[in-house]
Amino acid sequence: MPAHIQIGNVAIHRIVEQEAPFFEVLQFFPTLTKEVLNQNRAWLQPKFLDAEDKLVLCIQSYLLATPHHTILIDTCVGNHKPRPNRAFWHMMTSDRYEKNLAGAGFGVGDIDFVMCTHLHPDHVGWNTRLDNGRWVPTFPKARYVFADRELAHWTERQKEDAAACPWILDSVLPIIAADRADVVKSAHAFDNLVTLVPTPGHTIDHYSVQVGKPGAGALITGDMIHSPLQTRYPELSARPDYDPKQSAQTRRNVFGRVCDTATLLCTAHFPSPSVGRLVSRGDAFDFVAA
Ligand SMILES: [Zn+2]
Repeated sequence: MPAHIQIGNVAIHRIVEQEAPFFEVLQFFPTLTKEVLNQNRAWLQPKFLDAEDKLVLCIQSYLLATPHHTILIDTCVGNHKPRPNRAFWHMMTSDRYEKNLAGAGFGVGDIDFVMCTHLHPDHVGWNTRLDNGRWVPTFPKARYVFADRELAHWTERQKEDAAACPWILDSVLPIIAADRADVVKSAHAFDNLVTLVPTPGHTIDHYSVQVGKPGAGALITGDMIHSPLQTRYPELSARPDYDPKQSAQTRRNVFGRVCDTATLLCTAHFPSPSVGRLVSRGDAFDFVAA
Protein backbone atom coordinates (compact mmCIF):
# COMPACT_ATOMS: atom_id res chain seq x y z
CA MET A 1 0.00 0.00 0.00
CA PRO A 2 1.58 3.28 -1.06
CA ALA A 3 1.61 6.09 1.51
CA HIS A 4 -0.91 7.90 -0.66
CA ILE A 5 -2.73 7.71 -3.98
CA GLN A 6 -1.90 10.25 -6.67
CA ILE A 7 -4.66 11.41 -9.05
CA GLY A 8 -3.12 14.02 -11.35
CA ASN A 9 -2.02 16.78 -9.03
CA VAL A 10 -4.22 15.64 -6.12
CA ALA A 11 -2.77 13.41 -3.38
CA ILE A 12 -5.30 11.24 -1.54
CA HIS A 13 -4.39 10.01 1.95
CA ARG A 14 -6.32 7.57 4.13
CA ILE A 15 -6.56 8.55 7.79
CA VAL A 16 -7.66 5.46 9.74
CA GLU A 17 -9.30 5.64 13.14
CA GLN A 18 -10.40 1.99 13.63
CA GLU A 19 -10.33 -1.32 11.76
CA ALA A 20 -12.12 -4.30 13.32
CA PRO A 21 -15.03 -6.73 13.05
CA PHE A 22 -18.18 -4.72 13.87
CA PHE A 23 -21.57 -6.06 12.70
CA GLU A 24 -22.97 -9.56 12.21
CA VAL A 25 -23.36 -9.79 8.45
CA LEU A 26 -26.83 -11.39 8.30
CA GLN A 27 -28.16 -8.67 10.61
CA PHE A 28 -26.39 -5.90 8.74
CA PHE A 29 -27.84 -7.01 5.38
CA PRO A 30 -31.44 -7.97 6.24
CA THR A 31 -32.15 -9.49 2.79
CA LEU A 32 -28.95 -11.57 2.68
CA THR A 33 -29.85 -15.27 2.89
CA LYS A 34 -27.72 -17.94 4.57
CA GLU A 35 -27.52 -19.68 1.23
CA VAL A 36 -26.01 -16.69 -0.57
CA LEU A 37 -23.69 -16.06 2.35
CA ASN A 38 -22.48 -19.67 2.22
CA GLN A 39 -21.82 -19.35 -1.53
CA ASN A 40 -19.62 -16.31 -0.90
CA ARG A 41 -17.97 -17.10 2.43
CA ALA A 42 -14.83 -18.54 0.81
CA TRP A 43 -13.75 -15.24 -0.76
CA LEU A 44 -15.11 -13.03 2.02
CA GLN A 45 -13.18 -14.75 4.82
CA PRO A 46 -10.96 -13.83 6.53
CA LYS A 47 -10.40 -10.37 5.06
CA PHE A 48 -13.95 -9.02 4.80
CA LEU A 49 -15.68 -11.34 7.27
CA ASP A 50 -14.28 -12.78 10.50
CA ALA A 51 -14.76 -16.34 11.80
CA GLU A 52 -17.97 -15.29 13.59
CA ASP A 53 -19.47 -13.80 10.40
CA LYS A 54 -18.90 -10.23 11.54
CA LEU A 55 -18.13 -7.67 8.84
CA VAL A 56 -14.60 -6.34 9.13
CA LEU A 57 -14.83 -2.59 8.59
CA CYS A 58 -12.44 0.29 8.48
CA ILE A 59 -13.44 3.64 9.99
CA GLN A 60 -11.46 6.32 8.20
CA SER A 61 -11.27 9.72 6.55
CA TYR A 62 -9.89 10.54 3.12
CA LEU A 63 -7.69 13.60 2.93
CA LEU A 64 -7.30 15.37 -0.43
CA ALA A 65 -4.25 17.56 -0.86
CA THR A 66 -4.97 19.59 -4.01
CA PRO A 67 -2.94 22.50 -5.37
CA HIS A 68 -5.63 24.78 -3.90
CA HIS A 69 -6.87 23.19 -0.67
CA THR A 70 -6.51 20.49 1.95
CA ILE A 71 -9.86 18.74 2.21
CA LEU A 72 -10.88 16.12 4.78
CA ILE A 73 -13.76 13.85 3.75
CA ASP A 74 -15.69 12.36 6.69
CA THR A 75 -14.39 12.56 10.23
CA CYS A 76 -14.91 9.15 11.86
CA VAL A 77 -16.22 8.72 15.42
CA GLY A 78 -14.21 11.12 17.57
CA ASN A 79 -13.38 11.19 21.28
CA HIS A 80 -15.48 11.71 24.42
CA LYS A 81 -18.74 11.28 22.49
CA PRO A 82 -21.62 9.54 24.28
CA ARG A 83 -22.88 6.75 21.97
CA PRO A 84 -24.83 4.55 24.38
CA ASN A 85 -26.24 2.38 21.56
CA ARG A 86 -22.81 1.64 20.04
CA ALA A 87 -20.47 0.23 22.72
CA PHE A 88 -17.47 0.23 20.37
CA TRP A 89 -17.85 3.98 19.68
CA HIS A 90 -18.95 5.12 23.16
CA MET A 91 -16.75 7.70 24.92
CA MET A 92 -13.62 6.87 22.94
CA THR A 93 -10.27 8.25 24.16
CA SER A 94 -7.98 7.19 21.34
CA ASP A 95 -5.01 9.11 19.95
CA ARG A 96 -4.89 6.95 16.83
CA TYR A 97 -6.72 9.38 14.55
CA GLU A 98 -4.57 12.42 15.26
CA LYS A 99 -1.41 10.26 15.17
CA ASN A 100 -2.36 8.93 11.74
CA LEU A 101 -3.17 12.46 10.54
CA ALA A 102 0.29 13.53 11.71
CA GLY A 103 1.80 10.41 10.11
CA ALA A 104 0.38 11.54 6.75
CA GLY A 105 2.06 14.90 7.29
CA PHE A 106 -0.93 17.00 8.40
CA GLY A 107 -2.23 18.67 11.54
CA VAL A 108 -5.70 19.91 12.42
CA GLY A 109 -4.62 23.45 11.46
CA ASP A 110 -3.95 22.39 7.87
CA ILE A 111 -7.51 21.46 6.98
CA ASP A 112 -9.30 24.07 4.82
CA PHE A 113 -12.53 22.14 4.23
CA VAL A 114 -14.30 19.23 5.90
CA MET A 115 -16.84 17.42 3.71
CA CYS A 116 -19.32 15.11 5.42
CA THR A 117 -20.78 12.65 2.90
CA HIS A 118 -23.67 12.24 5.32
CA LEU A 119 -24.46 12.92 8.96
CA HIS A 120 -24.02 9.55 10.66
CA PRO A 121 -21.94 9.21 13.85
CA ASP A 122 -18.93 7.53 12.18
CA HIS A 123 -18.67 10.38 9.63
CA VAL A 124 -18.99 13.51 11.77
CA GLY A 125 -17.23 12.66 15.06
CA TRP A 126 -14.00 14.62 14.70
CA ASN A 127 -15.93 17.64 13.41
CA THR A 128 -15.71 18.76 17.03
CA ARG A 129 -13.58 18.20 20.11
CA LEU A 130 -14.24 18.80 23.79
CA ASP A 131 -12.70 22.03 25.09
CA ASN A 132 -13.42 22.93 28.72
CA GLY A 133 -16.78 21.20 28.56
CA ARG A 134 -17.77 22.76 25.20
CA TRP A 135 -17.82 21.22 21.74
CA VAL A 136 -15.68 23.34 19.43
CA PRO A 137 -14.58 22.79 15.80
CA THR A 138 -11.55 20.43 15.78
CA PHE A 139 -10.12 22.07 12.66
CA PRO A 140 -9.54 25.71 13.59
CA LYS A 141 -9.75 27.26 10.14
CA ALA A 142 -11.94 24.76 8.27
CA ARG A 143 -15.26 25.38 6.56
CA TYR A 144 -17.57 22.37 6.83
CA VAL A 145 -19.52 21.32 3.71
CA PHE A 146 -22.95 19.81 4.39
CA ALA A 147 -25.69 18.87 1.89
CA ASP A 148 -28.74 21.07 2.45
CA ARG A 149 -31.46 18.39 2.66
CA GLU A 150 -29.22 16.14 4.78
CA LEU A 151 -28.66 18.92 7.30
CA ALA A 152 -32.36 19.86 7.33
CA HIS A 153 -33.38 16.23 7.87
CA TRP A 154 -31.08 15.68 10.83
CA THR A 155 -31.77 19.06 12.39
CA GLU A 156 -35.46 18.17 12.39
CA ARG A 157 -34.81 14.65 13.67
CA GLN A 158 -32.70 16.04 16.51
CA LYS A 159 -35.58 18.33 17.55
CA GLU A 160 -38.08 15.46 17.48
CA ASP A 161 -35.96 12.86 19.26
CA ALA A 162 -32.59 14.08 20.55
CA ALA A 163 -31.75 10.74 22.18
CA ALA A 164 -31.99 8.97 18.81
CA CYS A 165 -29.13 11.00 17.31
CA PRO A 166 -26.79 12.38 20.00
CA TRP A 167 -24.09 12.99 17.37
CA ILE A 168 -26.09 15.84 15.85
CA LEU A 169 -25.97 17.72 19.17
CA ASP A 170 -22.24 17.25 19.79
CA SER A 171 -20.77 17.05 16.26
CA VAL A 172 -23.03 18.98 13.85
CA LEU A 173 -24.97 21.73 15.64
CA PRO A 174 -21.78 23.24 17.21
CA ILE A 175 -20.44 23.72 13.65
CA ILE A 176 -23.61 25.61 12.69
CA ALA A 177 -23.43 27.66 15.91
CA ALA A 178 -19.80 28.57 15.18
CA ASP A 179 -20.89 29.76 11.71
CA ARG A 180 -18.52 27.31 9.99
CA ALA A 181 -20.99 25.45 7.75
CA ASP A 182 -21.19 25.81 3.98
CA VAL A 183 -24.59 24.37 3.10
CA VAL A 184 -24.66 23.24 -0.54
CA LYS A 185 -26.59 21.07 -2.98
CA SER A 186 -25.38 17.46 -3.05
CA ALA A 187 -24.41 18.03 -6.72
CA HIS A 188 -22.16 20.98 -5.83
CA ALA A 189 -19.19 21.61 -8.14
CA PHE A 190 -16.62 22.54 -5.51
CA ASP A 191 -13.84 23.49 -7.94
CA ASN A 192 -12.28 22.23 -11.17
CA LEU A 193 -10.81 19.16 -9.40
CA VAL A 194 -13.46 18.22 -6.83
CA THR A 195 -17.20 17.66 -7.42
CA LEU A 196 -19.91 16.40 -5.10
CA VAL A 197 -22.05 13.63 -6.62
CA PRO A 198 -25.51 12.85 -5.18
CA THR A 199 -25.65 9.18 -4.08
CA PRO A 200 -28.87 9.07 -2.04
CA GLY A 201 -30.36 6.09 -0.25
CA HIS A 202 -28.05 5.36 2.67
CA THR A 203 -29.26 8.72 3.93
CA ILE A 204 -31.69 11.21 2.43
CA ASP A 205 -29.12 13.45 0.72
CA HIS A 206 -25.90 11.43 0.85
CA TYR A 207 -23.11 12.54 -1.48
CA SER A 208 -19.91 11.02 -2.84
CA VAL A 209 -16.92 13.06 -3.99
CA GLN A 210 -15.43 12.82 -7.48
CA VAL A 211 -11.75 13.74 -7.78
CA GLY A 212 -10.75 14.54 -11.35
CA LYS A 213 -12.88 13.69 -14.36
CA PRO A 214 -15.82 11.23 -14.27
CA GLY A 215 -14.78 7.92 -15.81
CA ALA A 216 -11.28 8.33 -14.40
CA GLY A 217 -9.81 9.84 -11.26
CA ALA A 218 -11.26 8.69 -7.95
CA LEU A 219 -14.69 8.50 -6.36
CA ILE A 220 -14.77 8.83 -2.57
CA THR A 221 -17.90 6.75 -2.07
CA GLY A 222 -18.95 7.44 1.51
CA ASP A 223 -21.54 4.87 2.60
CA MET A 224 -23.27 4.13 -0.71
CA ILE A 225 -21.53 0.75 -0.21
CA HIS A 226 -20.25 -1.06 2.90
CA SER A 227 -18.92 -4.42 1.68
CA PRO A 228 -17.61 -5.84 -1.62
CA LEU A 229 -20.43 -8.39 -1.31
CA GLN A 230 -22.64 -5.53 -2.58
CA THR A 231 -20.71 -5.35 -5.86
CA ARG A 232 -21.71 -8.97 -6.55
CA TYR A 233 -25.24 -8.22 -5.27
CA PRO A 234 -25.95 -4.49 -5.76
CA GLU A 235 -29.53 -4.96 -4.47
CA LEU A 236 -28.21 -5.89 -0.99
CA SER A 237 -28.91 -2.84 1.12
CA ALA A 238 -27.62 -2.27 4.63
CA ARG A 239 -29.87 -2.18 7.69
CA PRO A 240 -29.07 1.50 8.45
CA ASP A 241 -30.04 2.60 4.90
CA TYR A 242 -32.74 5.27 4.96
CA ASP A 243 -34.25 4.07 1.66
CA PRO A 244 -32.98 0.57 0.75
CA LYS A 245 -34.54 0.64 -2.74
CA GLN A 246 -32.95 3.98 -3.52
CA SER A 247 -29.53 2.91 -2.19
CA ALA A 248 -29.69 -0.17 -4.45
CA GLN A 249 -30.57 2.05 -7.42
CA THR A 250 -27.66 4.35 -6.55
CA ARG A 251 -25.26 1.38 -6.52
CA ARG A 252 -26.54 0.16 -9.91
CA ASN A 253 -26.17 3.66 -11.38
CA VAL A 254 -22.72 4.38 -9.99
CA PHE A 255 -21.32 0.90 -10.60
CA GLY A 256 -22.57 1.01 -14.19
CA ARG A 257 -20.78 4.32 -14.72
CA VAL A 258 -17.43 3.37 -13.17
CA CYS A 259 -17.06 -0.33 -14.02
CA ASP A 260 -14.32 -1.24 -16.50
CA THR A 261 -12.94 2.31 -16.27
CA ALA A 262 -9.82 3.62 -14.52
CA THR A 263 -11.94 5.13 -11.72
CA LEU A 264 -10.60 4.30 -8.28
CA LEU A 265 -13.31 3.68 -5.70
CA CYS A 266 -12.15 4.96 -2.33
CA THR A 267 -14.61 3.23 0.00
CA ALA A 268 -15.32 4.43 3.51
CA HIS A 269 -15.62 1.06 5.17
CA PHE A 270 -13.89 -1.75 3.23
CA PRO A 271 -10.94 -3.09 5.20
CA SER A 272 -7.49 -1.85 4.16
CA PRO A 273 -6.46 -0.98 1.55
CA SER A 274 -10.16 0.02 1.00
CA VAL A 275 -9.46 1.26 -2.54
CA GLY A 276 -9.97 -0.51 -5.86
CA ARG A 277 -11.68 -0.69 -9.22
CA LEU A 278 -14.87 -2.34 -10.42
CA VAL A 279 -14.96 -4.82 -13.27
CA SER A 280 -18.16 -6.21 -14.74
CA ARG A 281 -19.10 -9.79 -13.85
CA GLY A 282 -22.27 -10.99 -15.57
CA ASP A 283 -24.98 -8.50 -14.65
CA ALA A 284 -23.04 -7.48 -11.53
CA PHE A 285 -19.51 -6.45 -10.58
CA ASP A 286 -16.28 -7.47 -8.91
CA PHE A 287 -14.18 -5.25 -6.68
CA VAL A 288 -10.49 -5.50 -7.47
CA ALA A 289 -8.26 -3.99 -4.80
CA ALA A 290 -5.78 -1.42 -6.12
ZN1 LIG B 1 -20.44 4.80 7.90
